[in-house]
Amino acid sequence: MAEAMERLGAEMHALIARLYPICRSITGDGLRQTLGILGEIAPLQTVEIPSGTQVLDWTVPLEWNAREAWVADSRGVRVIDFRRSSLHLVSYSVPVRARMTLEKLRPHLHALPDRPDWIPYRTSYYEEAWGFCLPQRQLDALPDGEYEVCIDSTLAPGHLTYGELLLPGESKDEVLLSAHVCHPSLANDNLSGAVVSAFLARQLAGVRRRLSLRFLFAPGTIGAIAWLARNREGLWRIRHGLTLNCLGDSSPFTYKRTVSGAAEIDRATAHVLAQSGYAHQLIDFFPYGYDERQYNAPGFRLPVGSLMRGRHGQFPEYHTSGDDLSFVSADRLAESFRVLASVLELLDGNLRYRNLAPYGEPQLGRRGLYRALGGSAIPDLQMAMLWVLNLSDGTQSLLDIAQRSRLDFAVVRAAAELLARHGLLEPG
Ligand code: ZN
Repeated sequence: MAEAMERLGAEMHALIARLYPICRSITGDGLRQTLGILGEIAPLQTVEIPSGTQVLDWTVPLEWNAREAWVADSRGVRVIDFRRSSLHLVSYSVPVRARMTLEKLRPHLHALPDRPDWIPYRTSYYEEAWGFCLPQRQLDALPDGEYEVCIDSTLAPGHLTYGELLLPGESKDEVLLSAHVCHPSLANDNLSGAVVSAFLARQLAGVRRRLSLRFLFAPGTIGAIAWLARNREGLWRIRHGLTLNCLGDSSPFTYKRTVSGAAEIDRATAHVLAQSGYAHQLIDFFPYGYDERQYNAPGFRLPVGSLMRGRHGQFPEYHTSGDDLSFVSADRLAESFRVLASVLELLDGNLRYRNLAPYGEPQLGRRGLYRALGGSAIPDLQMAMLWVLNLSDGTQSLLDIAQRSRLDFAVVRAAAELLARHGLLEPG
């Protein structure tokens, strides 16, 4: 088990390393290429929505692609080159071919004075602009003089692309797992969530389950909005959901609740984290962060929480070149995978049962379910059977019982299944 998790962690990290150099944005070939690579892990369907399509209150933008982007000094030396890091170019930069002085160039150069060795991540999706990002130290060292600027990009009618995969269960009720895939070379913020999600889909494909699982890999905001716009009729199926992001760094886990804070996903994730032994915190919903804010909008109110380790905007490496391959580790990715697999398992098994022998306690010893222990402490499974029998009046779910008894959900579920096999319980 430990060895399998170690191998899985290493595989996930290797996939992040493969995706890392690609210049992703909210549209374009980098996004398509990313979805293609994720599709090697789990068979995604890609959906292309034409530029100009109205989606809810938004319009799908022009498609952006960049082939080359550099700044060369007066000797022709490329002092900034997008080939070295996709973060160097402001995402959605319009094409430019010009010579200019440093003074003219400077308003287009972005750096982080308080983190002078890192390249910031900047975008200009909905405003025509261009620019480069570089470490403050490098910016400070640029000599005066003339520079040549080349941005070979296109902003043209094309498509917005997202990837989707449904693993059907016995029920039409679905769990939505949504990851954003629109950031360029940032490992924790976007790649970790997408990669853990793709590996979950691979692991769970073909496994018999009650709930259907829907995996969505979409550019942030506009991608989730486009998906919601196209799937309005089917949204009633989404019974639980999570946005997945920042799952590879070494911060403790953070679970951000749904708007109501009382959804089954809120309780399920809190229970799994509490039982996991991993350091974690639970925080209330706020309308920022990732796409949970689209799913929780008042017109939809889908019960979608958010699982992360480092929090959106709260770690120094956030949206900088510090969020690189060394910032995420195989072990932390494997832990995140394990927590998510447990949450999905809990949701799937969280049924309500009815005690079929409710008049007093059924005689468990006669059925071989109770070992005479002569005064020693009762093991968890037997204690769980007593709790399940007592609380299974058709109103309490197994998670309710696990919380009330302070027993692990898996033990409570095992007790319920054992009792059902012996004709003492039935779902309902
Ligand atoms: Zn981000």
